[in-house]
Amino acid sequence: MTAVASDRAIATDYEDVQVREGARSGLTIAIAVHRTVDGRALGGCRFEPYSSTNDAIADVKRLARAMTFKAAVTGLRLGGGKGVIAYPPDSPPDAYHRKLALHDFADLVDSFDGRYITAQDAGTALEDIAYIGRFTEHTAGHPLSDGGSGDPSPYTAHGVEVAIRASMRIPLAGRRIVIVGLGHVGSELARRMREAGAQLAVSDIDPRKRELARQLKADWLEPHEALRAEADLLAPCALGGVLTESTIARLQVPFVAGAANNQLASEAAADQLRDRGIVWAPDFVINAGGLIAVADELHGFDARRVERSIERIGDTLQEIYARAAAAGTNTLVAAQELATERSGGLHGNDT
Ligand code: NAD
Repeated sequence: MTAVASDRAIATDYEDVQVREGARSGLTIAIAVHRTVDGRALGGCRFEPYSSTNDAIADVKRLARAMTFKAAVTGLRLGGGKGVIAYPPDSPPDAYHRKLALHDFADLVDSFDGRYITAQDAGTALEDIAYIGRFTEHTAGHPLSDGGSGDPSPYTAHGVEVAIRASMRIPLAGRRIVIVGLGHVGSELARRMREAGAQLAVSDIDPRKRELARQLKADWLEPHEALRAEADLLAPCALGGVLTESTIARLQVPFVAGAANNQLASEAAADQLRDRGIVWAPDFVINAGGLIAVADELHGFDARRVERSIERIGDTLQEIYARAAAAGTNTLVAAQELATERSGGLHGNDT
């Protein structure tokens, strides 16, 4: 994979998109700022395999834009940004080169002069953010031991639980819930659902997660079975793009509400879900718990304030459902409209 030079032409409705070949690591480093609010955008750093530089750029832009909507609908005074460190799928960096890449990324973060604040995301850990923090002050999501918010995943899982309750509006005891992806968020959500008395079925591509399924007394499903299992709710908590025309056609659930980012393979998928009578809880609305916690650090972390803010995800979701029903639109459009209203316009530097 060859890194391309910085190209402001690809920014179009983005405030800034910067792409570099890391001077130390040689890996592609990209940061997209879709929009700033009060001069700031926040979003995590992904450290993932990409088959081309263009794929990495497309992903960082898509994710930055989603962060804009997430922050806006949540009522946070922050814009949306995202960072990516991309490595070729066949050659993941060793520990030494990984550090070099994090240092390269920190330099690029620093060049944004506070307009982009980075945090943990897929493929990075809190220690990585602490390492980046040695070279730039523009980081958030610090360990609890440093007075930070710690791991964002339990907050994200809490928000998804709030959303599940707001969607189903009946006690969870005895309800069959399918969770796809037993990672940081999915495993915590599974514990919460188990505590609420739900009947759980779980799925993961990693067979080692079977042990957790056993502890949770959950049925184990292979991923292809999970997406067509009959249940009261499906919670996608793995990767994006899971709701395609063909997977939606096979769904046997009245509700879909999960943590995974960018679940819809296309915007048309939101219409297909509505047409099938399936209520889809927009991902960027309900997975905001982690962002709420990390953003809270910017004015001194207060766990109780964060919990209260996460509880409000339920009201936001009810409003989205009511608007979609009243306007005969889908829940994605209703959520985007609410986000736009709450922030007074959501394009990049043209607002
Ligand atoms: P994670 O990497 O800890 O867990 C993902 C899990 O999904 C892994 O166990 C993996 O083996 C499994 N998986 C991958 N592909 C799968 C497939 N095709 N079928 C079934 N299982 C599969 O990630 P996470 O932090 O738990 O995040 C999960 C999702 O939620 C991601 O889309 C992430 O972007 C989103 N999200 C996470 C947070 C957070 O606080 N961690 C916040 C907002 C959104």
